[in-house]
Amino acid sequence: MSNPARIGSTTVAFEVLVIGGGAAGVAAATAAGRAGAKVVLLERYGFLGGLATTAQVGTICGLYLRDTAGDEATPVGGGFPQEFASRLQRAADTKPIRVTDTGLWVLPYSPPAFAGVADAVVSESKNVTVILHATVAEAQAEGSRLNEVRALAWNEPLLFRPNAVVDCTGEATGAALAGAHAENGGADQAPALVFVLENADPGLAQRGLLEVRRELHWAVENGTLPALCERLSLVPGTGANGRIAFKLSLLPADPDRALWQQVTDWEREARALLEPLRQCLVKNVAACRNARLDSIAPQLGVRSGRRILGRARLMDEDVSGTRKFPSGIARGCWPMERWTKGPRPEMTCFAERDYYEIPFDCLRPAELDNVWVAGRCFSATTGAMTSARVIGTALATGWAAGTAAAFQARGRSLDDALTLVRKQMDQ
Ligand SMILES: Cc1cc2nc3c(=O)[nH]c(=O)nc-3n(C[C@H](O)[C@H](O)[C@H](O)COP(=O)(O)OP(=O)(O)OC[C@H]3O[C@@H](n4cnc5c(N)ncnc54)[C@H](O)[C@@H]3O)c2cc1C
Repeated sequence: MSNPARIGSTTVAFEVLVIGGGAAGVAAATAAGRAGAKVVLLERYGFLGGLATTAQVGTICGLYLRDTAGDEATPVGGGFPQEFASRLQRAADTKPIRVTDTGLWVLPYSPPAFAGVADAVVSESKNVTVILHATVAEAQAEGSRLNEVRALAWNEPLLFRPNAVVDCTGEATGAALAGAHAENGGADQAPALVFVLENADPGLAQRGLLEVRRELHWAVENGTLPALCERLSLVPGTGANGRIAFKLSLLPADPDRALWQQVTDWEREARALLEPLRQCLVKNVAACRNARLDSIAPQLGVRSGRRILGRARLMDEDVSGTRKFPSGIARGCWPMERWTKGPRPEMTCFAERDYYEIPFDCLRPAELDNVWVAGRCFSATTGAMTSARVIGTALATGWAAGTAAAFQARGRSLDDALTLVRKQMDQ
């Protein structure tokens, strides 16, 4: 007869709690650890990277200035985003490429290499305890302080009493559970599922999707494929070794539905479309005649979700006017990129070789003093976030939030944290 097992809550000692191990969370945990704080990083999946690895988006945007003329990519700023990018370049044998005639530079990467570099950087400070398969489901504030966070880690309850919290969930989940006001951006952008075909003609990726789109359009017109299959695009930089990564975009969320219902439907709908889509490509596109489905991203890529309403808000005109702020803690250089009902994104570029800054207070919920929010859920308008959500900028806001949280947790001045982050951006 087996012993009855009772589950009790374990309490873990630390100073800064980082929730979410995506690009922002990895940067935040590393920053806080290097600033001398004891850190716990909670991640609901079994590996780090967030959408960069779970949705396999495949290229880092927001690291380099837009530039139609130069031969080399120019970093938008120094500090951690460039350190991460350099390590990824070495680990994945990759380099920046210019993807369009609008002068946009990106860094292609392989998702396993991203997860590996993320794991290595957070571990090196020795101050960061990573807990995987840990999902935060409850957070309680007393007055303006977030006091308690509860998570299930591999189905065991854990209780945290943090000095400072960095919410990098992509959905402002920690802040919202603790009562901070947030807005629902779930319907702002269309999601997409990334999948890889192997054994395709690599020339297809170089030529673009003209021939593919023609065949898909024809199949949709004659009723053999659902209309969504026309919303296919290439992951930039893809095509090495005959493995071509595609993004199949769906339609934006219905604003009247809960996002958890919508995401469930999206996941099933997108995965069900892949086999008919593959069959159509194999049958009708010469470059795909021998192609096989190699892999599908473990998670649908959800571009927009809940965002906090912070002490400041990044506005559309801050982005389009490349505004700088005395309290700027991160630089954004990617255009506003809206994926809505059309098959391709609407891009709104700002001045070439320029950038905007994100004010410190965009990372602070209005109601909570010891919470910092980074990545794609800090305080910004819908339009501004279509630019600031990219991985390069998420690394930068995560770094700033982690530094601030460590300084706060250790009783150091936030002005000093701001000065340090601004100095690192200039390096
Ligand atoms: C289809 C698609 C294509 C894209 N293409 C590009 C591109 O080419 N280049 C680019 O730079 N950007 C691209 N983006 C945007 C970019 O990938 C994301 O905006 C960016 O990765 C966000 O990083 P983040 O750390 O803010 O959030 P996320 O990557 O979403 O990370 C959040 C993390 O928190 C974890 N988490 C969430 N809730 C909890 C919880 N309650 N408890 C514990 N953990 C939790 C999640 O598992 C996740 O790991 C794309 C996005 C999509 C959807």
